[in-house]
Amino acid sequence: MSNYTHLLLAVDFSATNRHVIRKGLALAEAFGARVSLIHVVEFAQVDLSNELVMPQELELDQELLALAESRLQALAEEHGMSEYARHVRQGSTKREILHLAGEQGVDLIVLGSHGRSGLQLLLGSTANAVLHGAPCDVLAVRVKS
Ligand code: AMP
Repeated sequence: MSNYTHLLLAVDFSATNRHVIRKGLALAEAFGARVSLIHVVEFAQVDLSNELVMPQELELDQELLALAESRLQALAEEHGMSEYARHVRQGSTKREILHLAGEQGVDLIVLGSHGRSGLQLLLGSTANAVLHGAPCDVLAVRVKS
């Protein structure tokens, strides 16, 4: 098995995150790897009419990003990960996770087999999408409920 050096833990603030974090931290300790966290804010301004984006929409974007920053910080503190790199990105979850992984030289992405979207599918949509496009190994931590 390869010796992982940089793990990226993808969190969506659902109850499943504790599984992802516990498994990620255990692996990081075993490999002596560094750990980064990512949360993606999916909200994106839609400007189908090509008109100017309203200031209120820009403010909402900024508020959602700021809220995500503080939730990610709180989650990191709760799990003793305050010193680890945190990334809040905006856009498509799959694309942003893959982009950050490539940019940061991540060699293992850790995420939940299921998150907010529930257990309808064998593998949740984010895990499935990341698995298919990843430049590195992906660990989909089995989430039962
Ligand atoms: P889902 O596709 O909703 O079943 O989510 C599966 C897993 O993907 C979650 O347990 C998280 O690890 C990750 N994930 C889902 N949404 C996000 C997000 N917005 N930002 C970061 N990771 C996410």
